[in-house]
Amino acid sequence: MTKRLYYTDAYLTSFEAPVIGVDGTRVRLAQTAFYPTSGGQPFDRGTLGGARVVDVIDDNAGIVHVLDTPGSFSAGNSVKGEVEWPRRFDHMQQHTGQHLLSALFEDNGGGKTVSVHFGEESATIELDVESISRDRAVRVETRANAVVAENRAVSVTFEDAATAAGLRKPSDRAGEIRIVSIDGVDRSACGGTHVRATGEIGAVLIRRIEKYKKHTRVEFLCGARAIARARADYEALTGMAAVLTSGINELPALVASQAASARTLESERRKLTESLASYRARELYDAATARADGVRRVLHQSASADELRALAHAVAALSKVAFIGTCESPATIIISASDDSGLDAGALLKPALATNGGRGGGNVKLAQGTAPTTTALKAIAAAVSG
Ligand SMILES: [Zn+2]
Repeated sequence: MTKRLYYTDAYLTSFEAPVIGVDGTRVRLAQTAFYPTSGGQPFDRGTLGGARVVDVIDDNAGIVHVLDTPGSFSAGNSVKGEVEWPRRFDHMQQHTGQHLLSALFEDNGGGKTVSVHFGEESATIELDVESISRDRAVRVETRANAVVAENRAVSVTFEDAATAAGLRKPSDRAGEIRIVSIDGVDRSACGGTHVRATGEIGAVLIRRIEKYKKHTRVEFLCGARAIARARADYEALTGMAAVLTSGINELPALVASQAASARTLESERRKLTESLASYRARELYDAATARADGVRRVLHQSASADELRALAHAVAALSKVAFIGTCESPATIIISASDDSGLDAGALLKPALATNGGRGGGNVKLAQGTAPTTTALKAIAAAVSG
């Protein structure tokens, strides 16, 4: 089995180790400082004998280092390993922050942690309660940041599972277990990498709280991630505030009042469009002369399909009339017929569309179609105009 140097020194980034097995790009060492993906924590990157380490796997036989190219060393050689520190330290911050948050949620009525996940952008803990109120989350976040400021020691001990006392969750392993303790706050069995004092966790920021099956998932960020996220949020809010020429503290009230005002304006605009359409419809109606069947045909071109729809409704509300409106972009035709016209808009449009490669349909009163080209649109309009 590989000796895990990170068990006793999470700060070790540079080490030498005898190579005990090489299979292409997969390398086993007698000892390693590389952390393999396990317990929700992602693997370390870095270099081994100059080659890049692109994955680290924990299998039953020990730890496998996966390189981007086969190394220039073989079993029996000694090789130098370098762990990429910024990524490792970031994981140490998130992981220790997770122990702290799990302990504080449990101690403050937030349930027990049943799983954890450390992602590229944020980490989550799954708590075995159906919900967590915003206030409870804020209290836990405040307390977590206080524990960070208290700079409590985080220590690692190896104890016998049978006699280890005060563990947050009883270990299901027998024999020696590794225990990570945050002084006065938490004792948990864990094989991951952690910082040596809570001050190194840095800022703790709780974000999304969401239901997950019968549990609750809490997203959080620690250290530089929390600051980067707060910075991105600030930039976004500042951008919005600049558009609205306000300060970011006034944004919630301002956005709410603008949304309400936009809804009112939209409803007024709709009424005005209808009212304008009925005046315009009357104008077009008066200018059209009735055919031999006593029904007027109102032909109209518009740049807007919305305007055509409004006119189609308004014209059809008048007497003994049919409306045939076209719009070139997109190539659209809208037909409507008043109840007393004896015409069927849908039946009129359907064959004209079919002959000219158009699509669409409708009912007796209103029908709409689109044409593949403006030439086809004109042919459809000519066919239905009679
Ligand atoms: Zn841990």
